[in-house]
Amino acid sequence: FDSELDGHVAIVTGASSGIGEATATSLVSEGASIVLAARRESELEELAAQIEDEGGEALIVPTDLTDDTDIDALVDATIDAHDRVDILVNNAGLMPLAHIADVDRETLQTTIDVNLSGLIKLTHAVIPTMVEQGSGHIVNLSSVVGRFSQPNSSHYDATKAGVIQFGESLRRDIAEAGIRVATIEPGAVNTELIEHIPDEEVQSATEDLFESMEQLAPEDIARTITFVVTQPQRVDINEVLIRPTDQV
Ligand code: NDP
Repeated sequence: FDSELDGHVAIVTGASSGIGEATATSLVSEGASIVLAARRESELEELAAQIEDEGGEALIVPTDLTDDTDIDALVDATIDAHDRVDILVNNAGLMPLAHIADVDRETLQTTIDVNLSGLIKLTHAVIPTMVEQGSGHIVNLSSVVGRFSQPNSSHYDATKAGVIQFGESLRRDIAEAGIRVATIEPGAVNTELIEHIPDEEVQSATEDLFESMEQLAPEDIARTITFVVTQPQRVDINEVLIRPTDQV
């Protein structure tokens, strides 16, 4: 590889499927050394093998973002291996859509823990290294629903709106240190995300909605993220709302 991200180290969370997997592959194709984080170790191993077969470099760190120890271990393993962190893609998330009256408290908690608390804590854990470097790029996955709310989605929408506000406020705190922050807000993307919706009725309605349009591919988001992180240091693309052309 001989490209824009040569020598750059990128952590991607939720790298075991969907947008995270596609983003890891795309960043590697631009020369980045990748650190793959998610809970499913076998999926990470498979992706790492694929990346290595193609001449790239991948470190896997099985991580549950609801666990503070895992968050610290992810950053420590990255620093031990590479001594730096240039890019953090906070992509991991879950979308257990349901009417607020039908969702159990544990699901509410996990949604907030992964989509928002985990994202904030992991960012907090990499910032000192990025400040020391005088550079870094944080890319946070929000959603179109972070801006335009949907029914049966209050807990999910709240986390995604929180990601937008966290990103903008964070940017104002760390811009002077040369650290960039981008918020990506996708519409419908064809991944396994909706397969994990526990409420059958809501899942089937969401499937119908997604199938009513030509959904984005995970690679469309990966290409966008790669575009964002390969800009010159003076360019900070703060927010990208990206939807299928026929999503209205
Ligand atoms: P996937 O379900 O394919 O990916 C979700 C990823 O999050 C998986 O790799 C999963 O890995 C990881 N994850 C879930 N829980 C945890 C946890 N506790 N600790 C660590 N990792 C975890 O869906 P997408 O690729 O679609 O989703 C990626 C992001 O994009 C999410 O934040 C989602 O909200 C956002 N998004 C998706 C849209 C879509 O239409 N698909 C639209 C807008 C935003 P594992 O299970 O191995 O831990």
